[in-house]
Amino acid sequence: MTEHTPTPGIHHVTCIAGDPQRNMDFWVETLGLRLVKRSINQDEPGTYHFFFADAEGSPGTSMTFFPWAGAPAGKVGSRQAARTAFRVPEGSLDYWESRFDEYGVDYDSRVERFGETVLPFRDPDGLPVELVEVEIGDDDPTVPWTAFVPEEHAIRGFHSVTLWLPDPEPTGDLLRTMGLEEVGTEEAEGDTPGDERTRFAAGGPVGKYVDVLPTIPGGRQGRGTVHHVAFQTPTDDDQAGMRDAVRSEGLNPTQQINRHWFRSVYFREFGGVLFELATNGPGYASDEPLDALGERLVLPGKFEDRREEIESNLTDVTIPRAEPVEADD
Ligand code: ZN
Repeated sequence: MTEHTPTPGIHHVTCIAGDPQRNMDFWVETLGLRLVKRSINQDEPGTYHFFFADAEGSPGTSMTFFPWAGAPAGKVGSRQAARTAFRVPEGSLDYWESRFDEYGVDYDSRVERFGETVLPFRDPDGLPVELVEVEIGDDDPTVPWTAFVPEEHAIRGFHSVTLWLPDPEPTGDLLRTMGLEEVGTEEAEGDTPGDERTRFAAGGPVGKYVDVLPTIPGGRQGRGTVHHVAFQTPTDDDQAGMRDAVRSEGLNPTQQINRHWFRSVYFREFGGVLFELATNGPGYASDEPLDALGERLVLPGKFEDRREEIESNLTDVTIPRAEPVEADD
């Protein structure tokens, strides 16, 4: 086996959404994430690419979407990251349930999983999402965004993804190659199709876990499903080493592709889920000041020359703003 640096965890998760404004309103206002980048799908410039993250767009916090009003509904199922979970501070799920009641969010009863409490819900496109209570230390690398949700309840980056797979074994071996360790197996709960959930853990504090569940075929990509899961390979060298390692397992990674805010390698893992390896740099603050992230439509590289044409093909969206608190007088 080649020498390579283990991945510290998930870098970002990218999903398919429907109406762009509805997607923006939910992830920014209801869930309280920060819009850190408003751009286009570099493979399809007629579609937006939104990036929602913590206050600084830290690795392990960005949930990104290709929103497209005409996107056909997908079906969550096998060969997909069927659940995406975020960390929230211990004791904050009461707040979240009240907020979900207030905003009319479709949520389920809490479940216990590996000793942690999980609140499952769905976004407006039906994408299954979970909040998991964890202890957030003073040295936590994430930076909460507090425009809509107070710091003591704010989402603090990814907790995990759950992969639904026809056969979890080869994927488990791949996760070990990528540097994750199997930490346990327990009976699956709730609406999950398989009967056993196996958890793998990476070394970093954020985006640490990947769970795998056996399931029968039946997923279809579309609105309300995950498109791919990206893992952190902090430097180009880390990425090249990891690329060699997954190649030596028989997979077929792409060459490095410049995604402007990070550099990426893609491959489909053994169960059919699209994985990406993403560098930590240059980062979302490399082309906009930190205090103005997401304010303007950013068109990377060659697309800037086509700004007028590209903007005319995109529907207008309004970024939700927190109302200034009015003093009683
Ligand atoms: Zn990606």
